[in-house]
Amino acid sequence: MTILFVSDLHLDSSRPHITRLFVEFVRDEASQAGALFILGDLFEAWIGDDASDETADQVATALARLHASGVPTFFIHGNRDFLLGDAYARRARMTLLPDGSVVDIEGERVLLMHGDTLCTDDAPYQAFRAQSHTPAWQRAFLARPLAERRAFAAQARAESQRYTRSVDDAITDVNADAVAATLRAHGVRRLIHGHTHRPAQHRLELDGQPAERIVLGDWYEHGSVLRCRSGETSLSRLG
Ligand code: MN
Repeated sequence: MTILFVSDLHLDSSRPHITRLFVEFVRDEASQAGALFILGDLFEAWIGDDASDETADQVATALARLHASGVPTFFIHGNRDFLLGDAYARRARMTLLPDGSVVDIEGERVLLMHGDTLCTDDAPYQAFRAQSHTPAWQRAFLARPLAERRAFAAQARAESQRYTRSVDDAITDVNADAVAATLRAHGVRRLIHGHTHRPAQHRLELDGQPAERIVLGDWYEHGSVLRCRSGETSLSRLG
């Protein structure tokens, strides 16, 4: 059976046609698949499970139906939705996986990540990530009133857009040494991740052996899906 991988959907009420595209993808193609893996940034922003909106409701309903039809969904947090919690995961019947999980895909050990931890040249981002991934920061943030959390998220998005435009593309892409070290640390030869919005299947050489890094695309204008079946992988545009 085909195993499906998506990431960086950035679902948001401002782009309802993309939410519709995803809901249809889940209802049609994913319902025939062996499993669906979502590698982060399913949502444009996530300020807590208590702030669920209509987009989140539609997605939870679609994924819960998928689960009822016998197809498991696995979710790895992205840098936009790292606060997505157990309550929402239960509603959507998604299984949360740690960032950097090795899973068995048709007998091969494959490493799955969101991808932001590989962008080690981006020091300001890594500093924010380290701070915002502490339990104390998250507890304090989630305890703030919804309006304050919304304002913080909007400001963070605006700053991130300004920053990304202001620095060289290489800074916000993965670091080749970090990729090699990560593959070695997990003892794998294949990595699938998102985050950079630079879809590609990169052939690499790691310690004299072939390896592969597959980068999923974003869903800003179209969908992007990776299909794995019988040892073949294909990355294509959707919609
Ligand atoms: Mn991301």
